[in-house]
Amino acid sequence: MPAPPSFDEADLAHARALRDRALADGAAWRLLHELCTTIGARPAGSPADAKAQAWAQQVYRAMKLEAVRAELLPLRIWQRGPASARLTVPVARSLVMAALGNSVAAPAGGIEAEVAWYPDLAALRADTSGRAHGRIVFIDQRTERTRDGAGYGRAVAARANGPVEAARRGALALAIRSIGTSGEPRAHTGATRYDLSVPRIPAFAVSVPDAEFIAARHAAGQTMRMHVELQAEGGVEATTANVIAEWRGTDLAHEIVLIGAHLDSWDVGQGAEDDGAGVAIVSAAAGVIAAAGRRARRTIRVVLFGNEENGFDGALAYGNRYRDVPHQLVAESDFGAGRLYRVRHRVAPQALPAMEAIAAVLAPLGIAHPTEGRNEGSPGPDAAVLMRRHRWPALALSQDGSRYFDVHHTADDTIERIDPAGLPQNVAAWAAAAWLAAQAPVSFGPAVL
Ligand SMILES: [Zn+2]
Repeated sequence: MPAPPSFDEADLAHARALRDRALADGAAWRLLHELCTTIGARPAGSPADAKAQAWAQQVYRAMKLEAVRAELLPLRIWQRGPASARLTVPVARSLVMAALGNSVAAPAGGIEAEVAWYPDLAALRADTSGRAHGRIVFIDQRTERTRDGAGYGRAVAARANGPVEAARRGALALAIRSIGTSGEPRAHTGATRYDLSVPRIPAFAVSVPDAEFIAARHAAGQTMRMHVELQAEGGVEATTANVIAEWRGTDLAHEIVLIGAHLDSWDVGQGAEDDGAGVAIVSAAAGVIAAAGRRARRTIRVVLFGNEENGFDGALAYGNRYRDVPHQLVAESDFGAGRLYRVRHRVAPQALPAMEAIAAVLAPLGIAHPTEGRNEGSPGPDAAVLMRRHRWPALALSQDGSRYFDVHHTADDTIERIDPAGLPQNVAAWAAAAWLAAQAPVSFGPAVL
């Protein structure tokens, strides 16, 4: 097979060596295990977040990465308090529930009201009947299990926009079926939001089995009443950080290849899948690159973003700070520990041959480079913010997320749920792709959006 035109054969050989070295490297699992078991949940702005920042910097110094730092940023955080919910009519049943991130508190004594059931967010949006008024709206939005997360993408608007749509119709509170794919009795939190034009009402998710129970009562034509108590506080002043480390480049060292993940997690569980796995994968990839010793032309920069989960403060601060620094590529690992099955990207036309060469190095890992949509990739949440705002080129490495939403944002997102088998394959792809992007003879940008 002739060498692709865009890289020297020695460069490709080095990338293949990084790939193969990473496949035999156990660092990602060690890092993930340590992060989960010594720190655990690390919501942005918490003491555990600060501990995680210190831990990551220590990891990078031990890897002999350069310019290791935490770039602090002020933010306002939301803090969960005690909460509970139960059906009181037609039968007493306590519900497995979790407040949604940013939910306002319920008044002292809680809220008790009749339930107004909707099959999905679209049905609520279409409702002009006044049925929601004075009630607790329940949205029974189902999350379809898919490899690429499209099912979550279709369902998550119920969580994000449900409170505003319910409040617009006079509801007292919003409950949703958990945005998640398992049938286990676990509640999935996640951010929601409000709109200044309508009252802010308490919002929470109940487990899938509880949602099934509620749906069955609705189907039987039974009136339901629900009682919810929910304490929470928003707008609390705090500090988080983006943790950064670099493997400095040579003649184009001022240009950046950004490989990222987010360091924060929700306050439940250990943030193992979301996003301890991503932290471990990109960190281990940088470690493999540094251990091999060869520099690329551009600087490879690991960025662990702060507060992806509830406001993207880290990504926004990073973009503001580095807006004038050329970025060759941005990419983020934030989809658990499953194996990669696809590489896509969003680069300028002159970079497409280089992307083909990178994909060829990844192909033996079982990673496809589909013809359709290959230059319409989206690189992970923080990186996507940067791609869209700055037109920075992006790499999208897609993991099998078929099981990712079983424990996503729940108390069960812990190290015990992680299958470590796919981690080295991820590290291999990230190390090879990042190094080649940094060494490429062409600029990848600006992204074609
Ligand atoms: Zn995440």
